[in-house]
Amino acid sequence: MSDCIFCKIANKEIPTDLIYEDENVAAFNDLNPQAPVHFLVIPKKHYASLNEIDSSEVLGNIFSAVPKITKKLGIKEYRTVINTGESAGQTVFHIHVHVMAGRKFNWPAG
Ligand code: AMP
Ligand code: ZN
Repeated sequence: MSDCIFCKIANKEIPTDLIYEDENVAAFNDLNPQAPVHFLVIPKKHYASLNEIDSSEVLGNIFSAVPKITKKLGIKEYRTVINTGESAGQTVFHIHVHVMAGRKFNWPAG
């Protein structure tokens, strides 16, 4: 999508330090971190939200990248979050998984 900021990051139209990249996904640090470690994993292909996902492949690509990245960072405990829709806190409508670590997280999430 031409006006999607995460598509632009994935396409390298916006220069961003990627902490991980493969054929299908990219990961980069969140601009406004909510924990000492806070990065996002996105599929390179545009899906506005989890509601647009109709196969396990995309989620498999995203989630299988997570332990590769956390291992590289030496992290064993972390929280993963997908916000879907405005009331759930989604602000960027290109599906992404938040991965946060380095502090204690409360449950239920606020
Ligand atoms: P959400 O609210 O779940 O849609 O999460 C969107 C996240 O994207 C927020 O945590 C933002 O801080 C983050 N974000 C927005 N623009 C950028 C950007 N250009 N680079 C990195 N993170 C971003
Ligand atoms: Zn996009």
